[in-house]
Amino acid sequence: MAPKSGSAKNKKTFEKIRKQLLEKKQLILDGANEAITRQLVKQKENLPELGDQASAEIDNNFLLRLKGREKKLLAKIDQALERIDNGTFGICEECGQTIGLKRLEARPVTTMCIECKTDQEEKEKINKA
Ligand SMILES: [Zn+2]
Repeated sequence: MAPKSGSAKNKKTFEKIRKQLLEKKQLILDGANEAITRQLVKQKENLPELGDQASAEIDNNFLLRLKGREKKLLAKIDQALERIDNGTFGICEECGQTIGLKRLEARPVTTMCIECKTDQEEKEKINKA
């Protein structure tokens, strides 16, 4: 019995990518938490009279910080996980073609095949110029 063309392999690879994405997500959250904790300790050392008020402000800062690069990446990771769940993972959102497994493994948060991504980057270059 001949195996069906690559679908089992895709599924296995997608499961592997899902694990990687979840690990990456955890790393970002841990890293952000650690940075905030360090900041908190530093502030408490410098300003020991500050109590819960400061802690509350730093909690807010945590969210603000996450509005930056990490938050964007977290959103991308969540979207990729969603695409794995709903079966659209690995399909280029521009042209609908399958994105190569190698590319997905290297950049699991990508939503475009290499051709469309290259096109987009070319256009961005022109727009910036
Ligand atoms: Zn494409």
